Amino acid sequence: MKDENKKYSAVNSSLNKLFHEIKNPLAICNGYVEIMKKKEDNKYLEIINKELNRINQIINDYQYSNDEKRRINLLSLLTDIKYTLDNLYNDKNTYITIDCSEQIELYGNYNLLKQLFINIFKNAYEAKDKNILLIKVVVKKLKDNLKIKVEDNGKGMNKEQLERIGEEYYTTKDNGTGLGVPFIFDIIRKHQGTINYESFENKGTTITIKIPFNAY
Ligand code: ADP
Ligand code: MG
Repeated sequence: MKDENKKYSAVNSSLNKLFHEIKNPLAICNGYVEIMKKKEDNKYLEIINKELNRINQIINDYQYSNDEKRRINLLSLLTDIKYTLDNLYNDKNTYITIDCSEQIELYGNYNLLKQLFINIFKNAYEAKDKNILLIKVVVKKLKDNLKIKVEDNGKGMNKEQLERIGEEYYTTKDNGTGLGVPFIFDIIRKHQGTINYESFENKGTTITIKIPFNAY
């Protein structure tokens, strides 16, 4: 493992433990706030609830892992995420299609790549502005790279938003963290890949990722 990656793994491992520990008391507090909300009409409870959810959101967006490099079957990774998110969003008008051959594999960090796609899909879900949201994933093998295209027909971004994409804490959402895309960029860097966002307002967003088969 490269020195930089070793340091990264050590930091990830400590952060992961810390995040894990924070999430438990957070869930307990949130549970009690929910109960209190049912009993009394207090606007402060709503705020506490919102802020606790926000902490949870930050942790989810940023959750690191020190999982080492291994062979990953991309179709099973993508299918796994699709089912996780389908249950979470439970929105009948959202469809994810995955076009990826069963044989496609790469060496990488499974948990980081999972987090990468979760962040991408979550942003797509949150961009839904039409009756039906379509998220299309196409994976193709190039000579030394894997090309992954994720296309959504959500609200898209204007030029100014697109220019700011990847900036830390940049968000257009009321409860956004602006940490999802910087984390995506970080994971792509760790895998020596490239990522490109294309977007048109009211039409949708297309993300093109290229990752070498064996770089991480
Ligand atoms: P957050 O989701 O918390 O706002 P992110 O870093 O994940 O933070 O995203 C930053 C911003 O990039 C979002 O607020 C949104 O404006 C924009 N964005 C990212 N992905 C998409 C997408 N698929 N469609 C439209 N806008 C997007
Ligand atoms: Mg996000």
